[in-house]
This record gives sequence, C-alpha cells and structure tokens, in this order.
Amino acid sequence: MHETAIAQSLLEIVKEQALLYGAKKVTRIRIKVGALSGVVPEALQFAFEVLSRGGVAEGARLEIEEVPSRIRCEDCGVFEGTPFLVCPNCGKLAELLSGRELEIESMEIEDGGEGS
Ligand SMILES: [Zn+2]
Repeated sequence: MHETAIAQSLLEIVKEQALLYGAKKVTRIRIKVGALSGVVPEALQFAFEVLSRGGVAEGARLEIEEVPSRIRCEDCGVFEGTPFLVCPNCGKLAELLSGRELEIESMEIEDGGEGS
C-alpha cells in the first residue's frame, strides 16, 4: 500500500535523525501532508504505528498537518481546496501553489540525559 511505503521512508528519516542527535526515543513527529499528495492521513497513521513498533519511534505521536491545495489561474486568481489542477471558474489548467507536500516539519526526542 501507498501509505506503508511512505511510513517506511518516514521512519527511516526519523531513525537517521535520532541517531544523529543521540536520541533514545522519539516522542513526537509533526509532518505536513498536502491535500493533493494522495495520502490518507488515517492510513498513514496506522501504518506508522505498526511499523514503528520495536524501534526508536515506538509510541511516538504522529501529528499530521493537512495542507489544503492552492492553485492559481492566470485569469481568475487563486483558489483554495480544489481537488484538481483545473480552474473551477474557467476550466483552464492552473498552476499548483501548494498541496503536494509530504515532509517532516519537526520532531521531538528524548536524549536520555535527564529525567528520573
Ligand atoms: Zn480561471
């Protein structure tokens, strides 16, 4: 499934970062997902939960921020929330401004250096 592959590569990046910062545990991951990226947040959430088991990101909270699509028609201006790359007003092919994002925005880690 699409989301499984995405969760997998997401976890790979998270693992790399965790290693880089000497993190013992990843507690929170915030990602941006564009409305036109084709990702179903619930499915990604589920895949992440399953795949993160036993790893550094086990139990981490995955926060998915959905970015609405924005397109610009050179005649009619900017439209938000359209599902296609076509101007809803005149039907012309529009330019995509945002909505295909799929990126890690931030993550929180525990370095194990403090706490009880
Ligand atoms: Zn237009």
